[in-house]
Amino acid sequence: MPTMTRCPGCKSQLRVPDGSVGRQVKCPTCGTQFVAVSEEEVATDPATARWFEDEPEEHQEQEYEERPRRVRRRDYEPHRGGLILALGIIGLVICAPLAIPAWIMGESDLKKIRAGIMDPEGEGLTQAGRILGIIGTILCLIGCVCGGLYTVLVIASLGVAPN
Ligand SMILES: [Zn+2]
Repeated sequence: MPTMTRCPGCKSQLRVPDGSVGRQVKCPTCGTQFVAVSEEEVATDPATARWFEDEPEEHQEQEYEERPRRVRRRDYEPHRGGLILALGIIGLVICAPLAIPAWIMGESDLKKIRAGIMDPEGEGLTQAGRILGIIGTILCLIGCVCGGLYTVLVIASLGVAPN
């Protein structure tokens, strides 16, 4: 029964006659001279087991995908965009002091979002709420100033009224 062996040069399987096992043989494919051993021996002998490894490892490049750092993190603080926007709108529409917290909260939350602490999903809402808060606050101030001036004028005109 012929023995199977493997050429260390080209790794092709070769059939060698029983008589040649343990002797120097020449690979017909690549011409490498080597000592023919039975395949079982090759497989168990650590010195020659290498032959059975598949192609010399092709310098496996370790592809660590550079994941962008801005991948959603689970530990974001939830944003308050909806709340801030609601405060801004209410503050603007009914000219309430609600516009002031909308502005302040929007300001601090935007900082957190940019620092990566807060969920960036809410950036648009927060930004919008903040702007409405600013407008609402300014309108409210103008309203107060105008109202105050009006009151002062009324009182003054009453005061100077001949009577
Ligand atoms: Zn060979």
